[in-house]
Amino acid sequence: MRKIVFMILAIGIIGTVATIYTLSGSKPTRIVLITLDTLRYDSMMGGKDQPTTMPLSRAVGDKGLIFTRFYTATSTTQPTHATKFTAMHPWQHGVSRNGQVLDVKHTTVAEILKENGFTTSAVVASFPVTSKVSQFDQGFDRYDETFTEGRKESKYALADQITKSIMRQLDTAEGDKQFFWFHYYDPHAPYGDTSGQFRGFTPKPQLERAVQRGESRKQLNQMVAKFRQYYDMDVKYLDQHLHQVLQRLEVESRKYDTHLIITSDHGESFGEDGSVAHGKRITHWQIHVPAFIISPRITPGMRDDVAGSIDIMPTILDLANVQHDTPGARSLLQKPKQPTPAFGMRRTFEIPFEETRLDGKVHIHDYDLFFIVYPDGRIFRGNQEQLLDLPQQDNAIAKTLPNALKRQFSQFEDELNGQPPTREIDLAVIEELKKLGYTQ
Ligand SMILES: [Zn+2]
Repeated sequence: MRKIVFMILAIGIIGTVATIYTLSGSKPTRIVLITLDTLRYDSMMGGKDQPTTMPLSRAVGDKGLIFTRFYTATSTTQPTHATKFTAMHPWQHGVSRNGQVLDVKHTTVAEILKENGFTTSAVVASFPVTSKVSQFDQGFDRYDETFTEGRKESKYALADQITKSIMRQLDTAEGDKQFFWFHYYDPHAPYGDTSGQFRGFTPKPQLERAVQRGESRKQLNQMVAKFRQYYDMDVKYLDQHLHQVLQRLEVESRKYDTHLIITSDHGESFGEDGSVAHGKRITHWQIHVPAFIISPRITPGMRDDVAGSIDIMPTILDLANVQHDTPGARSLLQKPKQPTPAFGMRRTFEIPFEETRLDGKVHIHDYDLFFIVYPDGRIFRGNQEQLLDLPQQDNAIAKTLPNALKRQFSQFEDELNGQPPTREIDLAVIEELKKLGYTQ
């Protein structure tokens, strides 16, 4: 009898321990990646004598780990997103510019998570990342691109519509392990379209027309200042809508172990480098973007190690406790022992390779251009033919660096040229991309 009582007690104690363990150790997991298309670093983080344009999102970012030197793989949408999803450079996954699909032979972060028991959901906001144009739906159980339905003219959606779609996906999400990718497009041209008053400004054709009219540099600068004003209006609008999602994720973090990564796919130029918009150049303003992580696994603060789009996938897998090799990329949860550089490239599909800039001239640029961002933030660009940013100092580094860079870029170029041709999207799609300002 005593033995039976002891056994009942023992079973009761084991059961209680097991219950406590289950409760504390198996809170469902949510991993959320949010990409804010065309968002500049200073729009989120503020700049010299300039406050943030996104105070609500920035306040959320301050609770997390902020990266002050995060660089995108390209200055265009599709290649950078493909790098985020595959942990491969554009010359490795083959999506070197807009208008090419991500080959199904590549393994995406969504596919790996799905194999590991995650339910996977995405909401996208613009034509270049739709399944037909990009094949980014690989590995996603649900891929909401409903903005393309019903409205023939609509090639993108504003944040109110995207937020509603996101809320619906959160309402109906299933499973103890959930992965989401949410894409917002509002900062992208046309600028000012969030006001509902007009269709917005399209920077590249407007600059071209103004130069053809022979407008002065002062007039051109005024036009660019107006572009920035309306871009900021769109960014503020995005902040309001994004905040609804961030608030919900925070409230629901009581129920879910929630890990959030927010970043952009490229920046935007407003004359700092003599150009407008993005895509044709790989200047600091077009590849330096905000990035932050909020997770119970990180210590809040600022990090200044150089990181890039390629590091997003290993970070997500680390948060998901999934083992997978991603050579050349690293999880951002740990600071690297050795400083690492960031790499990337830019390719154009426009012939001839021209860009009208604020100096009133039409500049010819290279078809392929690669870059490296050194741990100190210096950017060197070039290809096997030439280097654009030669070090000026007369020292040993200045003498050896150019050859080392050329060798490096030449290797990237060979790798890209060795890629089997990725399926090109048809001419009609290229016309649609051009309507959105994708002329590069
Ligand atoms: Zn983009």
